[in-house]
Amino acid sequence: MKIIGQEKALRRLRDILSKGRISHAYLFSGPEGVGKKLLAFWFARALLCLAPNPDHSPCLSCRSCRKADSGNHPDISLVAPSEGSAIKIDQMRHLKHNANFRPFEGRHRITVIDRAHRMTDAAANSILKLLEEPPAADIFILICPDPSLLLPTILSRCQVVQCTPVSRDLIEAFLFEEFGLSAEQARVVASLSEGNLKKGCLLAKDPESLQMREEFLSFVETLPAEGLSQVLSQAQNLERWNEKLGRERMDLLLRWFRDILVVKEWQQSSDSQASLEKILFQPERLTQLREAALQWTTIQLQQILSLLFFSVKALEQHANPKLVVETMLLKMRGTRYGG
Ligand SMILES: [Zn+2]
Repeated sequence: MKIIGQEKALRRLRDILSKGRISHAYLFSGPEGVGKKLLAFWFARALLCLAPNPDHSPCLSCRSCRKADSGNHPDISLVAPSEGSAIKIDQMRHLKHNANFRPFEGRHRITVIDRAHRMTDAAANSILKLLEEPPAADIFILICPDPSLLLPTILSRCQVVQCTPVSRDLIEAFLFEEFGLSAEQARVVASLSEGNLKKGCLLAKDPESLQMREEFLSFVETLPAEGLSQVLSQAQNLERWNEKLGRERMDLLLRWFRDILVVKEWQQSSDSQASLEKILFQPERLTQLREAALQWTTIQLQQILSLLFFSVKALEQHANPKLVVETMLLKMRGTRYGG
């Protein structure tokens, strides 16, 4: 198990482990796809490990770690909502039942509750009762994107461990090493992932979509020079687009045109290129961005960005993705040529 990023949360957990002052309830909070669940299971292993490393991380080779690794540790359990559903009271009953007994093997019994904000009222009340009078050996790790989504009565009983978006550099390096992407592909996917490592992995596993993305990006880069027929034929390639793909293309366009605008405005300021690269979504495309910045006026770029925001909204309201993107490309071209 490899945890990418989350240094601050790991430091905090190692500190808790070193002091040995373990609470009964933790909330691992932070955006989607940054490794909260992985971190929760890391913590569970570390708590039960029979021979932890000097830095308090689990040894990964003792009996307890091996059982945890194979998903068969009797003192570690996961409660999660089934697809499209909530965590129901039935899923809580065995926790209540177990509370009457000692853990099977270790010092603690650890229950990870994933997507804890998706509990029914009855399930939430049931966990609240357990948190109010926690059985001595029990540790609950709740996972949820935002603490404010939990009942204040539950939240007040949890120690919050905050997880943060994974840096673009770390995602890029991970995708490059683990998925065999080219350096350029890894950069593009890392930039699209917005700190969400899981999203990055999903994109990296889908080479066809990756290919389409590259084609689309190169199309966008040459858009000002394209004639009307090319724009329409590109739009005709969108048959297979669904809402998700449409949204992804919008993200690409938003980043692309936002970066052009930044580069354009930057030319009038005295700040260095190094600081410019830091604020760009696609620093690796600086040369193309500079070329594009010469082809568009500031006002055109602003118009295009508002057009894109409008199109994103339309997609969110379930407009036909093909129609939205086609209209948008035509309007973009209109903005460019006054058509
Ligand atoms: Zn171990």
